[in-house]
Amino acid sequence: MTEEKKIYLDHGATTPVDKKVLKAMLPYFNENYGNAASHHAFGKDACKAVEAARNEAAIFFHANPEEIIFTSGATESNNLTVKGIIKRAKIEGAKSHIITTAFEHHCVLDACGAMQKEGLAEVTFLNPETDGVVSVEKIREAIRPNTVLISVMYVNNEIGTVQPIAAIGNMIKEQNSKILFHTDATQAVNYFNCNVDELNVDLLSMSAHKIYGPKGVGLLYIRKGTPVARIQDGGDQEARLRAGTHNVPGIVGLGKALELVGKNNKKDAKKIAKLRDRLIDRVLKEIPDTFLNGSRELRSPNNANISFKNVEGESMLMLLDMAGIAASTGSACSSDSLAPSHVLLAIGRKAEEAHGSIRITLGKQTTEEEIDYAVEKLKESAKKIRKISGQVLNDFYASKNNMALDEDGHDHSH
Ligand code: PMP
Repeated sequence: MTEEKKIYLDHGATTPVDKKVLKAMLPYFNENYGNAASHHAFGKDACKAVEAARNEAAIFFHANPEEIIFTSGATESNNLTVKGIIKRAKIEGAKSHIITTAFEHHCVLDACGAMQKEGLAEVTFLNPETDGVVSVEKIREAIRPNTVLISVMYVNNEIGTVQPIAAIGNMIKEQNSKILFHTDATQAVNYFNCNVDELNVDLLSMSAHKIYGPKGVGLLYIRKGTPVARIQDGGDQEARLRAGTHNVPGIVGLGKALELVGKNNKKDAKKIAKLRDRLIDRVLKEIPDTFLNGSRELRSPNNANISFKNVEGESMLMLLDMAGIAASTGSACSSDSLAPSHVLLAIGRKAEEAHGSIRITLGKQTTEEEIDYAVEKLKESAKKIRKISGQVLNDFYASKNNMALDEDGHDHSH
């Protein structure tokens, strides 16, 4: 019996936990299981582990340990940023305006939308350019006297385009040093410079499970002195900004994952980018009527987002899944929705082009053989789907023509 093929090309959705990360986490489940807020020896051990992870994170982001707030992941970090800043700004009597982009992750878009709905903020949602990169100039033009927060993602999770975060950060600070700048760096941490001073950001969000760490844990970097209100009531953990018992094994895993990215990211990025280029080159050359979404140059080393003309993306995913390949059409969080991707619409794609798009995201274990196998399966699947949809269209037009013929065979179609 041949072994079933299993090829994972959906690292944008999540990554496997690195063995070294898992090893670091394990003792904190059933040996050092104390609550990090307890004052006995068990608690102190747990607290020590949490603080060691905080130090690791501070080293990675070039921040101070007190500026790192552990959360349950980027969704929570982004909610805390948007709602915490707007609620605090309101307390201080400011009329608030937020600038963000139309292709952010839904947790940013919806948190901004919630503030708008509650009457606490006005929001400008800027479209990126057609190459999937946001214009620094357009952000500058959107700034108003009441702008309190600008939030721009570092790497887009669907099309992998990289935003000029440092240039935006510098522009904002030159313009008005009181405006707070946040970046959702969830898809960037693996490969890009996350030095918060060089980026000139006040807040930065991320999730551990995108960097070979565990799910359900992440962090928010908050520059010292940044006014953020707490949005969750309860305990005093995390500088009173994140009530709730610490996820000690998760936090330990996040610290270890950041340490490993810090050591290996340059090497990994080079190898992964080479495979990504092989994939993009082969697909665009060997499969007719395909095009790449987002800039070819300003993109994450692991992302290929390709539109296939006259192909339904969901059908393609099913055929790929049957061939043992895991890919996606967009973000995993909205993949149950049949609405066209808001990201592809934001860069000017038509709904039918958005529906025929596939996101392939590589990881550090992806091999050349896997890429070549995926290309063959993409080729076969596109051919199969186009043949079927061509047949369906032919049958449809044939039946329309037949209906236009009356009973004695006269054509009334015109
Ligand atoms: N932002 C971006 C850019 C993401 O890719 C994701 C995950 N798809 C999130 C936020 C949300 O992360 P989580 O589900 O881990 O909270």
